[in-house]
Amino acid sequence: MAIDISALLGGARRPLAKAITLVESRLEQHRHEAQALLETVLPHTGKSIRIGITGVPGVGKSSFIESFGCYLINAGKKVAVLAVDPSSPITGGSILGDKTRMERLSQSDSAFIRPSPASGSLGGVAEKTRETMLLCEAAGYEVIIVETVGVGQSEYEVAGMVDFFLVLMLPNAGDELQGIKKGILELADAIVVNKADGAYITSAEVARRQYENALHLMQHKPLWTPRVMTCSALENQGIANVWELVQTFYAQMQEAGEINRRRAKQNKDWMWKLVYELINYRLQNHTQAKRLADQMETRVVKDQTTPLLAAHGIVDALIPT
Ligand code: GDP
Repeated sequence: MAIDISALLGGARRPLAKAITLVESRLEQHRHEAQALLETVLPHTGKSIRIGITGVPGVGKSSFIESFGCYLINAGKKVAVLAVDPSSPITGGSILGDKTRMERLSQSDSAFIRPSPASGSLGGVAEKTRETMLLCEAAGYEVIIVETVGVGQSEYEVAGMVDFFLVLMLPNAGDELQGIKKGILELADAIVVNKADGAYITSAEVARRQYENALHLMQHKPLWTPRVMTCSALENQGIANVWELVQTFYAQMQEAGEINRRRAKQNKDWMWKLVYELINYRLQNHTQAKRLADQMETRVVKDQTTPLLAAHGIVDALIPT
């Protein structure tokens, strides 16, 4: 797949879209081409602000991103929106939906919106999103928004690839606080209660205070105390405040060298996740290991050896100490 790299670096959309298709391809030959392309563009990456956004279906993610994205574009920024869609465990279908989302944003020349790719064999639902993010950075996008739904592991995966993680909430905090995954609040750099308009204004304010109290009781990442705000994506209220907060965060973290530290740690963690997954994949397809594993399984089932001893037997045969 021939990709015009200088056009990509110059910000052209077609080579960017093509490069992402290459990265998402499952063909072995494409994988090599994609990795070579990524190595070439790597020096041109890393300059964006990476923002993760999550929230339950219906909280207003696409409305918020539309509003926030248009605000950034008006301020002269180029914005890329990438989706990580874990798919519904029940229907197997897309949760973020096929409906036309972010209509105004998608018409802007300064926006690039890419729906979620089908997940591949390695790295879970967000396998290709990191690499897509790098390509968008190389193409000059200054803010990258990675959107996901509060299902399964997808939020953790997205939080593990962005600088700033924003959790959108509904005004009826009481019910939500009961059901929310505590881990998600611990990941949040900001909680934004959306739909603070019309009849919801008071309940949104109540929710804001409740989340603030909930956050007080939690452990935070170093150097940043997460903030809670309200906004209305529909009425474009509070959107500028969210951007101001992101900028404050960024300035503070940059000064402390924390953005680079976070990214370095994310890359290291990602590498190790891939190492384990590759080992696992090879193990499943390794004839000698399979034969040995079958024997060990039989012995374990018959109580002829312990699971620990059997595991050592298998791993020692593959990776001698
Ligand atoms: P998503 O599923 O999280 O992407 O949510 P959507 O952006 O599709 O919004 C779900 C519904 O909430 C739609 O009917 C929106 O019009 C509505 N909505 C989104 N943001 C707001 C808001 O700020 N105020 C009000 N009142 N409704 C909103």
